[in-house]
Amino acid sequence: MAKDETWHGIPRKDIPWFPTVDADACIGCSLCYTTCGRSVYEMRDNKAVAAKAMSCMVGCSTCGTVCPVEAISFPDRDMIWKLEREHKIFKVVRQEAKEKMAKQDAAKARAAAEDAVAKLTTRVRFEVAGDFGEKRFLIQMEDLIKEKPVDFVNLRMDVPTVQGARQKTPSFMSFDVTSTEQNDIQSFLDGVRDLIRRNALTLVSENKL
Ligand code: SF4
Ligand code: SF4
Repeated sequence: MAKDETWHGIPRKDIPWFPTVDADACIGCSLCYTTCGRSVYEMRDNKAVAAKAMSCMVGCSTCGTVCPVEAISFPDRDMIWKLEREHKIFKVVRQEAKEKMAKQDAAKARAAAEDAVAKLTTRVRFEVAGDFGEKRFLIQMEDLIKEKPVDFVNLRMDVPTVQGARQKTPSFMSFDVTSTEQNDIQSFLDGVRDLIRRNALTLVSENKL
């Protein structure tokens, strides 16, 4: 437990809420030890020992609930209600709730923004086959992106043989269309498909990356 840990404004050290194990009743099943998320317990000589008692979460009694032989007990709940009243904790609780809601809202907004970005199409890989007519297709690609926030990257051309290319043996080209400003490029893709069509090339595949 952190030295100055508090429970809704009350120093944790002032709250006597922790489990007490009846060592005679304990059968050493380890269920409390494995259940407690706060590592309160240690198993010693096949018995559970609440070694870090003050790390127990105030108000929790889970280990006591699951213990098969009812070897674990807690203080009376009245003690907690009395502390709540005496320390007037609900002003603090309201503020804590406000902060928690603000954090949750921020996390939701962040998740929604990330979701929206994930839905954007910012990069698409094309694979195209056919006769690219020396540099004609490349020049048209260059024209297509002129003054637009897009680019063609990872351009690869596979020409089987130069002789073959002269005899119009199909070549193969792959490239990525990417946004230079992380914008959606869906509308630009129509122009790319049109360019492929106008050059009588075959669109082999088109995949969002
Ligand atoms: S759950 Fe009960 S019986 Fe099992 S180790 Fe803990 S105290 Fe002992
Ligand atoms: S009451 Fe909860 S937090 Fe405390 S020791 Fe048991 S399981 Fe752990």
